[in-house]
This record gives sequence, C-alpha cells and structure tokens, in this order.
Amino acid sequence: MGIASVLVIEDEENIASFVSMYLKKEGYIIYTASTGGEGMMLAAEKAPSVVILDLMLPDMDGFEVCRRLRRDSDVPIIMLTARDASTDKVVGLELGADDYITKPFDPRELVARVKSVLRRVQAHSQAPAGPVTVGDVSLDTERREVTMSGRPVKLTAKEFDLLNYLMLNKGLALSRQQLLERVWGYDFLGDTRTVDVHVNQLRKKLGDGELIETIWGVGYKLAG
Ligand code: CA
Repeated sequence: MGIASVLVIEDEENIASFVSMYLKKEGYIIYTASTGGEGMMLAAEKAPSVVILDLMLPDMDGFEVCRRLRRDSDVPIIMLTARDASTDKVVGLELGADDYITKPFDPRELVARVKSVLRRVQAHSQAPAGPVTVGDVSLDTERREVTMSGRPVKLTAKEFDLLNYLMLNKGLALSRQQLLERVWGYDFLGDTRTVDVHVNQLRKKLGDGELIETIWGVGYKLAG
C-alpha cells in the first residue's frame, strides 16, 4: 500500500483545516470538500483510503453522502457527529459508517481513529488467501467477498471484518468488549452498542437470524 490518503468532507473551514493540518503532519495526503456533492466527486476521482464525513453539510446531510458512497465503495468512513446525538451514531453505523467521533474532539483522537482504521485495512490485505466457510456462509479475505448459499452478499468494511472475526472464532462466545477491541481496534472509544448495530445488519444481510447467536449478558457467538 502506498501513502494513505484522507478525504475530509466538512463545510466548517476551521474544523476542516485543523483536521487536515494534523493529518498532514502524520504524512497523509489530504483532500478536502466543503459540500456533499464535491465530496462524492472527490471520493470517486481520488479513491481515498479513508473518508472523514461531517453530518451537517450545506447541500445534503452526511447520511445521504454515506449512503451514496456505500453504493459502490467499502472505503472506511468516520463520521463527525454532534455530542450526544446518539441516534445519529446508530443511523450512521446502519448506513455503513465504520466509526464516529463526536464534536468537539481532540485532533489526536481523530488521528488515532484514522490510523486504527488503516491498520485494519492493511492487516486484511496481508491476510492469507483462500475462503473460510461456516455452514452456508463463505468469506474470502483476499477478494473481500462474502457469499450466502452461493449468493453474493454486499457488506461494508466493518461488517466484513466483524463477520471474519466471528467466523475465525466460530463456536466461541465473544464479548462485546472483545469484539470492539479486535474488530474496531484497541483505541476505539465508542460504546458497545456499535457491535449490536453491526450484528443486526449482518443478520439482515445474510438473511439468517440464527447464524449469529446472542449470548445473553455476554455478547455473540457464531453457530457452528
Ligand atoms: Ca458541518
């Protein structure tokens, strides 16, 4: 992987410029967009490694941008949300965002999130080839493809990582905290509801409510 690039979609100039400044210092290539439309254009044109997406944009909301980006890309998306807007976080994660950070935030925390997302993408691109199969589900880490009974299932980057981790640990009860640490990274500061939202999305997309069992008071387990 070459030098990682970050697309910052944020109309508030002071936030965009201070985020860019911190990320540039880390050696990333930065693209900035001040509207959702411009952001989507740059995402298609530059194929950034990560997108930082503000929810409040002048032309359309960040959710819409997220939804549209997800139509043809599994680029990691980190949303910027208002403090305590917890529904925003859940909606954003359901639309395929990988992570969120609440305003006002410490730029060092944002840098840590970006690094964490990139580390996981890079770790996966170096993972051994060959699909893993559990029951009717088959997951190919090299192609980053999942099939259910031979039918392709479109997952976001984080849903894919979560399913991969569950499949590699099938039959084991995994706590929400453990899943957060292993799938989202040790420096993830979000709450464990993030895990629940992603598990629900996986169940819906796989069309199998029983593959991932809920272990009451603990977390989840992949049957098998
Ligand atoms: Ca904004």
